[in-house]
Amino acid sequence: MNQHMRPEPVPFIDIAAQRRRLGTAVDEAVSRVLTHCLFINGPEVTQLEAALAAFTGAKHVVTCASGTDALLMVLMAKEVGPGDAVFCPSFTFCATGEAVALTGATPVFVDVDEATFNMDVESLKRGIATAKRLGLKPKGVIPVDLFGQSADHDAISAVAEAEGLFVLDDAAQAFGASYKGRRLGTFGHVTATSFFPAKPLGCFGDGGAILTDDAELAETLRSIRVHGQGSDKYDNVRLGLTGRLDTMQAAILIEKLRIFEDEIAARNVVAQRYAQGLGNVVTVPHVASGMISVWAQYTIRLPKGVDRNEFAAALKAQGIPTAIYYPKSMHQQTAYRDYPIADGGVPVCEALSDDVISLPMHAYLDEQTQERIIKAVRGALSS
Ligand SMILES: *Cc1c(COP(=O)(O)O)cnc(C)c1O
Repeated sequence: MNQHMRPEPVPFIDIAAQRRRLGTAVDEAVSRVLTHCLFINGPEVTQLEAALAAFTGAKHVVTCASGTDALLMVLMAKEVGPGDAVFCPSFTFCATGEAVALTGATPVFVDVDEATFNMDVESLKRGIATAKRLGLKPKGVIPVDLFGQSADHDAISAVAEAEGLFVLDDAAQAFGASYKGRRLGTFGHVTATSFFPAKPLGCFGDGGAILTDDAELAETLRSIRVHGQGSDKYDNVRLGLTGRLDTMQAAILIEKLRIFEDEIAARNVVAQRYAQGLGNVVTVPHVASGMISVWAQYTIRLPKGVDRNEFAAALKAQGIPTAIYYPKSMHQQTAYRDYPIADGGVPVCEALSDDVISLPMHAYLDEQTQERIIKAVRGALSS
């Protein structure tokens, strides 16, 4: 290779490679919708809900417009509001706590576990005590399955049960992941997920879904999804939203779900290659026993003393993109800094925000490209 040539840029997520693999299936699915013209609540929406239920084992699936709406609709159905406390990890995408704050309830931020980046159950217990001390009513907990790996649902459910809290699992990054042999969507009382294009199962726009075994909750969610409709569209029995997933996205997701299992396997091969190539120079992600991650992100921790900006710049110079999820934890954000954090603080969230960095990760990352990434990471650390 000519020394002066810039190295070929590597995509962070290769949606185009997936498009090539899907061939004309997606085009044909979209074209069917363009023919029947049932753009809202078309037959594909019901088909997708059935397919997602079969895939996860959840009894009821209510698709919706985004992962954020999925969270918000559940909180609305649970009638969460001012004076209520809902516990969330601080190291997460802002939508987790945002949905709580939008209802008028108080998000109480708790710490995460250093090894898995997911909710620390001891901090959750401290957070519950914090909320009570502040005169708030503990109502629910939102564990997040961060970067594609399940939270410790058994431990969280035990605390929730003892305290009478509902569990809303934020599986926006982890649809398809398993915990102790069962797919997410079947833990806690209800699960919210997202089909944003960059998520493990993404559509070609915005989308989301709510999964639950609770028939009554599913019924309420279907009402909230269409402005709180009652017996018909013009009978409004509660507040709601325009929360529907459109037919076009449902049609696309049906096709993408067919190859998803295979993509999960491919993502795990990629993760294994990273762990092998990088495990002795950085802290690679730890997958707890009994878990299968879907690797929404491959997030490493840099050794102490490594300048993260310089590290990212060194990789960029070689055509390798990186991203930082998340440079600030939620309690460090302007919009959320006045909400309480669990007694004892959230030191792990703060440490992670300082030293994590995510590498390219998708099902179509070939061995040769990955070797280039691994070599560049090792090179940047030894210079
Ligand atoms: C992406 C994401 C959401 C929100 O999903 P949208 O579909 O973008 O609204 C919520 N929680 C977490 C943890 C996410 O990563």
